[in-house]
Amino acid sequence: MLPSIGLHDVPSDAKRSRVCKGKQYFMSQVIIDKVLKCPRLPSLPTIAVEVIELCRTSDINIKQIATTISNDPALSSKILKTVNSSYYGLSQSVSTISHALVILGLNSVKTLALGFSLVSNFKGDKDSEFDMMEFWKRSLFGAVGARTIAQKAGLIEHEEAFLGGLFSDLGVMAMVQTIGKSDGYIGLIGEAGDDNNLLIKLERQRFGTTHTEVGAQLAEKWKLPPILVAPIQYHEFPDKAPPAVEKIVRAVSLGHKSAGLFLNRPNADIDAFFAELRQSFELNHADCEELLKTIGDATKEMARLFDIDCDSVSDAGALLAEANETLLQLTLESQQSADQLQQTNEQLQEQMNRDALTGAANRGRFNGYIEQQFEFAKKQTSALGVIFLDADRFKSVNDTHGHAAGDAVLISLSKTLQDTVGGEGLVARYGGEEFAIVLPGYDRKRAAQLAEQIRKNVESTPIAYDECLTLHVTISLGVASFDGVTVFQRPDQLVQAADKAVYAAKHSGRNCVRVFAPRTPQVAAG
Ligand code: GH3
Ligand code: MG
Ligand code: MG
Repeated sequence: MLPSIGLHDVPSDAKRSRVCKGKQYFMSQVIIDKVLKCPRLPSLPTIAVEVIELCRTSDINIKQIATTISNDPALSSKILKTVNSSYYGLSQSVSTISHALVILGLNSVKTLALGFSLVSNFKGDKDSEFDMMEFWKRSLFGAVGARTIAQKAGLIEHEEAFLGGLFSDLGVMAMVQTIGKSDGYIGLIGEAGDDNNLLIKLERQRFGTTHTEVGAQLAEKWKLPPILVAPIQYHEFPDKAPPAVEKIVRAVSLGHKSAGLFLNRPNADIDAFFAELRQSFELNHADCEELLKTIGDATKEMARLFDIDCDSVSDAGALLAEANETLLQLTLESQQSADQLQQTNEQLQEQMNRDALTGAANRGRFNGYIEQQFEFAKKQTSALGVIFLDADRFKSVNDTHGHAAGDAVLISLSKTLQDTVGGEGLVARYGGEEFAIVLPGYDRKRAAQLAEQIRKNVESTPIAYDECLTLHVTISLGVASFDGVTVFQRPDQLVQAADKAVYAAKHSGRNCVRVFAPRTPQVAAG
């Protein structure tokens, strides 16, 4: 159980720290005085003054309090209706204020008396630009929110949290009534919209003070107990609250925020709210969800008793479903961007492996691939064929028709190679006008057959450079293969052998295939 906070443990007005200094302090105090001394400033209902006064004395007279409240029939009937509502969940019906005081205790009854008398006293003008009904709706959500959070968090001051929540924006109401039109405060509220931080900033800029400061001074003027003054003063900045009242201020601050969740949709940030709840009161996610549901349901019930229309406000279920949808949307979006990123990476990798002109694999990819396949062939004692090829007299194509025509020939050559090889091996541009083909599983014979097929296809494929020029090219090819047991120990030896075979093909007059045949040791005849 957390320690109880005595009503007088909270710093008084004089002790409260003020950041206002010099000129700014002067300006802020001028505005505060203007508000507090304004004849339009609503006064605290007599009944509320009396209840507060009766509760202040050290020797509290419960009977006297019951009589005072009962003298106001409208107020007492509201209190009794509330006490008997499912919000309090009493097993027996309560018909008198004294009975309510016995069953619920002084604190709860006092809370209801203060709450009802204040709210009904400040319903505002119908034609005012400021929507007082909306204001109380928000305050009631804040009040129930603060009470529910305080209860869930194990604080004992539930009722104080409720009233603190209900009056947390007392300063706004006071400023609206007094300087709302004359000094443009109502316009300022409109400018801030649902953004509380912006409202505080605009108030500071325009008036040198904030509704929290004005509210706190008004609450003191009304002699509200210090435990109710603190939430009014600090609910926007709970970190600045004195330690003795920190918990209740946090409950009110979060209650205030919960009102925003229900009323500021679709801008509500439930995740941030839950995170703050978890951090402030060590609640888990399930607690947070349950809490939000309770706030939604209980506020609607309370609203009927306070004559505040909350019927059109969505319940917590809808809010949570909406938040889950947003979460799902965010997850999908991040999944999409992860997919995109992966795709981009793959594309980049692909680009890094490709020769820019011909689209064939580049030298780097060739090296990696042959290394891999050589290892595999060695392990499995399977075959690995390699074809090297070089365009014949290619220099003359460039010299005769220009470099662009030479490029077109290389592009066409690469395509014929890839079409002929199909998906069985890797076609790479080894450099210049030389290509290399790696053929996993191809022994010397099969590789030589494919090389011959390639030669024929290249020879018979006309290359239409432009409307007036069709080119032809031939190639010289060299074949080498690893058959699982032969002389090659490393892939570069295989590459060298194929290159040597190309050299032989060139020497044999070009446009032909030569096969590297390693000298095999003579086996003596038995
Ligand atoms: P051989 O039959 O003996 O191979 O004769 P060749 O003319 O093909 O051989 P050589 O090595 O003398 O010339 C190769 C030419 O290939 C020279 C070079 O300018 C050209 N070449 C290399 N890369 C490219 C390229 O990307 N585009 C173009 N258009 N030409 C290239
Ligand atoms: Mg060459
Ligand atoms: Mg050449």
